[in-house]
Amino acid sequence: MAKIGIVKVKLDREVNCYVISDASTKEAVVIDPGLPADKIAEQLNGVTVRWIVATHCHPGHVAGKDDLKDITGGQTAIHGADAKQFLRSADRYLLDGDELEFGEFKLTALHTPGHTPGSICCVVANHAFVGDTILAGGIGRQMPETDIRRQMMSIGTKLLKLPLTTALYPGHGPATSLERELAQNPIFRGAGAGAR
Ligand SMILES: [Zn+2]
Ligand SMILES: [Zn+2]
Repeated sequence: MAKIGIVKVKLDREVNCYVISDASTKEAVVIDPGLPADKIAEQLNGVTVRWIVATHCHPGHVAGKDDLKDITGGQTAIHGADAKQFLRSADRYLLDGDELEFGEFKLTALHTPGHTPGSICCVVANHAFVGDTILAGGIGRQMPETDIRRQMMSIGTKLLKLPLTTALYPGHGPATSLERELAQNPIFRGAGAGAR
């Protein structure tokens, strides 16, 4: 298996942007292109950006995507439901299960509506980039368009289908794992021990 590189870039509004690269081919995807785009570009270290993907279209997670596209030539991708909700355009509108290739890796988009209608989680090998769908010890800040019941359903039907050892990289705060969140995150309290 090729080696994966994951670089976290702290952006405005305390948003985590991630640059995920194939260490051998130097091809990469950028997740959550907020602002400033220059700060992301500085962390690229010569990789070729294939895809620029937003987990959802709250400004902090997407506002730098066109600037970053201009700088890197990567193709932008968002879920169609958020394109509609926030009147955003992209080169590609993702559907549940869509795969984006970079080097020897592929990113699989899981549609996890709730925080926004078009929220996605991006799975690469044993890593999941989850946006505001789940954070270490909580969930992303609820916004007017948030449907919390739908979000819990998405977590239960999509994220909990992933292996427990999956590392989670939220849109804010520290990284964690599915196993740790299942044990510690208050949103699972009352779900019962073996609830997968
Ligand atoms: Zn958000
Ligand atoms: Zn956010």
